[in-house]
Amino acid sequence: AHTGPVEKRYVLPDGSTVWARLHLAPLLSPDEPEVVIAQLEDITDRKRAESRLVQQAHYDTLTDLPNRAHSMRRLRAALDAAAETGTLTAVFFCDVDRLKLVNDAHGHAVGDAYLREVARRIRASVRSDDTVGRLSGDEFVVILPAVGTPTQAIGLAGRVIDSVRQPLRLGGEGFSPSVSLGIAYSAGLASSPDELLAQADTAMYRAKTEDRGSWRVHDSAVKSTAISHLQLRTDVAAALELRQFVLHYQPIVRLPDRKVMGYEALLRWQHPTRGLLLPAAFLDVVLDSEYETPVTDWVLRQACRDASRRPRDQRRVNVNLSSLQIGRRDLPDLVLGCLRESGLEADDLVLELTEDRLLSRPDGVQLLDRLRNLGVSIAIDDFGTGYAGLQYLQRFPDINIIKLDRGFIAGVWRDQVSEHIVRGIIDIAHSCGLTLVVEGVETTEQAHFVQQLGADAAQGYYFGRPAPYCQAHE
Ligand code: C2E
Ligand code: CA
Ligand code: CA
Repeated sequence: AHTGPVEKRYVLPDGSTVWARLHLAPLLSPDEPEVVIAQLEDITDRKRAESRLVQQAHYDTLTDLPNRAHSMRRLRAALDAAAETGTLTAVFFCDVDRLKLVNDAHGHAVGDAYLREVARRIRASVRSDDTVGRLSGDEFVVILPAVGTPTQAIGLAGRVIDSVRQPLRLGGEGFSPSVSLGIAYSAGLASSPDELLAQADTAMYRAKTEDRGSWRVHDSAVKSTAISHLQLRTDVAAALELRQFVLHYQPIVRLPDRKVMGYEALLRWQHPTRGLLLPAAFLDVVLDSEYETPVTDWVLRQACRDASRRPRDQRRVNVNLSSLQIGRRDLPDLVLGCLRESGLEADDLVLELTEDRLLSRPDGVQLLDRLRNLGVSIAIDDFGTGYAGLQYLQRFPDINIIKLDRGFIAGVWRDQVSEHIVRGIIDIAHSCGLTLVVEGVETTEQAHFVQQLGADAAQGYYFGRPAPYCQAHE
């Protein structure tokens, strides 16, 4: 009988393997015994190239993890198996926090190494039967077939988060990586892979906005109101064009006379279907997208324009800078342009930055110096929540305003320690010639207390909530 060619793998005496293609051609003649001609062809190179192609088609080249398409196939297989056996399958959607910051400040080579290490840590913290895949730039999926119980899944989620969170050194720099993680479960019935992933994504987004670096379980009860991360990303594109971003202004009052001395500009998104959104609901998405520059530039320009139309003694405006903005070479030019265009004086503009945004930049001191040379003021926002505290102010002589985080004033009501800390910070700020603004003043008692401590200015719901321009103007 005729046999078609067969491909076979042979192990050589030295342990290496070769692939061969075997053709068998029987020669039949009536009087002779059967003769078979066997032809062996070495196809090792072709086989290797094929498996490289398979690898490339299914795996991500940076991390060697299954890519999105391949991960989804594995998820489907896991769900099919789960439907048959009635076991629980869990999906983790992991989003690396602040990867953009690492890329922007240290370059893509460091960013890649950072991602590879995070991927390795995620892989190492789950079981060998679990699949870890890379969905896109900073997004990973973990598929846990037959996870047992929700409690076990949560335990594993905690392990992923803890193992990613270990300190990391790359090229002489220290990093503290973290992931925000969303958990979704198959109900044993046929949930579709896409649906399950979307649920885990929504849960991840809640983790990211409520408490970065933590996990949340998808809750079908909040499904209808929760904002889909993916949808949001799409909407941002239209938002700028359609002028859906607006600035609200919150008054900052001088103490002790409580006169409004200026306003902080706070970004809002007037979303067509979801109503007025606060930064917590969308800012991360914007800052992580290609719209970060147009949006943050717009904030600065609009804030200067609005401020220039206020009465002379209320013209001061505080604008929050994003981390990417701080590092942009053209920031001084942008600031100058906004001032010229609006006619606002440089000393009426205050740029607010947070400690971590500055500390993540080796060139922070020079950046501030260039800004101060324009005559604008620099405020440290959320002071007291970051790492370095007061000593760190010495490194940045260009800072002239401190905004004490609202956690302190809330804490003063609970414990004596916060009160001592607040007194201490005010004393030191004053001896360094800095202006101290207390944030988050909500009650008469707090206003009174802050005043009595000797703070220079205060901001909070008690003095005024953020409001659209026309109302803030009155
Ligand atoms: P932030 O700079 O610390 O702004 C103060 C936040 O505290 C505002 O929240 C404000 O509404 C809120 N707040 C003010 N007074 C009180 C009070 O008495 N009690 C309480 N509980 N909260 C008070 P908002 O507007 O949601 O902004 C949140 C954060 O979003 C801001 O924190 C800032 O980091 C960021 N952000 C806002 N607008 C912009 C922007 O235009 N650009 C950038 N890069 N970040 C922005
Ligand atoms: Ca601020
Ligand atoms: Ca603040």
